[in-house]
Amino acid sequence: MEIGRRELILTAAALSIAPGCASFGQSDRKRGYAIVGLGGYGLGRIIPEFKHCEHSRLVAVVSGDRAKAERVAKEHGLSANAIYSYGNYDRIRDNPDIDIVYVCLPNSMHAEYSIRASQAGKHVLCEKPMAISVAECEAMIAAARKANRKLMIGYRSHFELHNREAIRLARTGAVGRTRYVRSEHGFNFGDPNAWRLKRALSGGGSLMDIGIYALQAVRYMTGEEPLTVTARESTDRRDPRFREVEDMIDFTLDFPSGAIGSCQSMYSANRNQIMLMGEKGRIELEPATSYSGQRLWVGGDRERQVTPPPGSGKNQFAAQLDHLSECAISGREPIVSGEEGLRDMRIIEAIYRSAREGRTIRLGPQA
Ligand code: NAD
Repeated sequence: MEIGRRELILTAAALSIAPGCASFGQSDRKRGYAIVGLGGYGLGRIIPEFKHCEHSRLVAVVSGDRAKAERVAKEHGLSANAIYSYGNYDRIRDNPDIDIVYVCLPNSMHAEYSIRASQAGKHVLCEKPMAISVAECEAMIAAARKANRKLMIGYRSHFELHNREAIRLARTGAVGRTRYVRSEHGFNFGDPNAWRLKRALSGGGSLMDIGIYALQAVRYMTGEEPLTVTARESTDRRDPRFREVEDMIDFTLDFPSGAIGSCQSMYSANRNQIMLMGEKGRIELEPATSYSGQRLWVGGDRERQVTPPPGSGKNQFAAQLDHLSECAISGREPIVSGEEGLRDMRIIEAIYRSAREGRTIRLGPQA
């Protein structure tokens, strides 16, 4: 397949309508974020990104570790009033600088801290997985709706330029009709004492943490909602890492067009890939959903590498933060709203059920 000048121009046009590119008046102040949970992701990945944001800034931190919170606050020019503990968290209600609360806590704490933020009148960005059950997701959506505030899930790949371009290529028929999408996501888990391996905190194993990227991928690459799911699990329960949660889970989704989504999730091998097979060739991303370094190919046998034009958009983290700020300003719904997180959780519950019961599960029309 030839990707010539016309393709590059189309690419640039598609990227210019990517979320995060709306223009705002001078008077629109940056929206203030409170980061809840100063762990690997909140502190290590998200806080450093505010310097790349146009519409977002860090205004508060919530942590159980006062000394760490004070250090972070000092580094980022925040006053002592901008530090909250889990105990006095609800006082964020009285801080008008906080517009948005970003929940970066273990999965089982997402629902509680998101709901309390909504009740405090704040918009919420909650990390994936949205929560650990469908019931919790529904309660989060209800709380945000009642408060008339936004709820967005941290599905950063929707803001990553290679993934956005792959979606555009798939939608515009660059490789013909989609036959199947394959996505494998996993990493070799090290620490057997980590919260991710404790069911009460994680809600599940590799599927909740990394396999959810494969599920997202087959949904956003096809643009369809699955009708059925069939899953199989393979876990060595003698491995001390997997006493409470699953290691490997393989799941297949049937889509209304006849396309098939074929996914692998694991905590015992490194893999990060998306491949859409169309009638006229394939679209491949590898690595697909990593923090950086994505590569995208179109055609047969990785014929043509596609690189988004330089300067065509912010990195996925800053774009995600700014997207919710823009939604807070404009009143628009986030492209990855609470409903999107709920759809995944309905499918995840069906995947676990299918693996447990050894049969195909038909998904309801709302999934
Ligand atoms: P982490 O263990 O590095 O940090 C968790 C934070 O929660 C720590 O600050 C810890 O002190 C705090 N915490 C509060 N109560 C706790 C408890 N009872 N047990 C353990 N920690 C507790 O985890 P992380 O990697 O930062 O993950 C946090 C969330 O972010 C998870 O939901 C995860 O799925 C998500 N995440 C998303 C991405 C992404 O790329 N979107 C990447 C990593 C993590």
